[in-house]
Amino acid sequence: MDYASLASEYKETFNAEPQRVFFSPGRINLIGEYTDFNGGHVFPAAISLGTYGAFSKRDDRTVRMFSANLPKAGTIEFSLDDLSYNDADNWTKYFKGMLFELAKQGKTIDQGFDLYVHGNLPDGSGLSSSASVEMLMAQILLDAYGQDISRVDLVKAGQLVENDYLGLNTGIMDQFAVFMGKKDQAILLDTNTLKYQYAPVKMDGYVVVIMNTKKRRELTDSKYNERRAQCEEALRRLQTKLDIQTLGDLNGDQFDENSYLINDDILIKRARHAVVENQRTLRAFDALQNNDLTTFGNLVNASHVSLHYDFAVTGTELDTLVETAWQQPGVLGARMTGAGFGGCAIAIVKESNVDAFEKAVGDTYNEKIGHPAEFYIAHLADGSHELTK
Ligand code: ADP
Ligand code: MG
Repeated sequence: MDYASLASEYKETFNAEPQRVFFSPGRINLIGEYTDFNGGHVFPAAISLGTYGAFSKRDDRTVRMFSANLPKAGTIEFSLDDLSYNDADNWTKYFKGMLFELAKQGKTIDQGFDLYVHGNLPDGSGLSSSASVEMLMAQILLDAYGQDISRVDLVKAGQLVENDYLGLNTGIMDQFAVFMGKKDQAILLDTNTLKYQYAPVKMDGYVVVIMNTKKRRELTDSKYNERRAQCEEALRRLQTKLDIQTLGDLNGDQFDENSYLINDDILIKRARHAVVENQRTLRAFDALQNNDLTTFGNLVNASHVSLHYDFAVTGTELDTLVETAWQQPGVLGARMTGAGFGGCAIAIVKESNVDAFEKAVGDTYNEKIGHPAEFYIAHLADGSHELTK
């Protein structure tokens, strides 16, 4: 997809040329899973797959939107005069939610718009299409409406859409990665302080392969909330003696010496994942800085093991992809990415081995699970931006 194809799709829907076209990526997380709400570090990157939006301002206060991905929903309309949540908004709730959250901060717009949306992120696969569309709206507000607000504040508004407007318990990583991403770089983000650092991902001869289980993430929300509550309870028990704000404040040794305070086998496992994953993420950042891909790959593998045994969020589909990937030649590391229970995994694979890799992992997966997996190469890409003609 490019400017011209989006412009012509827009024209078929709205009968005019769009004024501008925008792109907002999806994201992968290289390592640092389920650490975000534990005040820990994450290491995500924006990817070349994402959501395109062809846009024109209107003279009135109406907003009209159409998505090529959800054509049955038709053209959805609302007015800037009422940005409150409404079930009838369907998928446009993410856009309306951004307008709502920013209006609460006094950042209003006067003119409505027509927007044609078309994404190429696989549906419901945990590559964060919701953050992608929220930040598409954010980029439009910056570029087309000249809103005076920092990129990081727009990231925070995106998280508020999920937490406040939609009532979902999610961290800030997705919006941050989508909006702050840079080509060929990953972002080490401390979700506690929002301090961040870019790390060049120079993987000479290796690429990141996304492996999609094609299993819709079911139960993810209830399990997610359960894991979150378990981590909070473990933290509360540690705080009876330790002066810490989050599990991410501890290193592995400090955790070891104090885990007796938690006194529950499940809670100890959950908390141990949060603590050690945070440490692994910092080590993975150092490994990439030192061009030590072998160590990086080993840490990626260890992350999956911890998500499987201690955090228990993988499931047969993700385990099959990752464990089969580990057995293939030319693979440095593989792990699930995102919330788990389905969705996607990533593998770092030697470029010349990619075809054989996809064939071998794909065959084993299909045999064992009974439906095919999908594979995509993820190029680490720039965050949300406007496309030039
Ligand atoms: P994800 O892990 O991809 O973020 P979510 O359930 O959080 O999954 O968000 C997916 C939702 O985002 C979709 O159900 C839809 O409402 C909205 N969405 C994402 N991409 C598009 C698109 N291209 N067009 C319309 N809606 C989209
Ligand atoms: Mg989402």
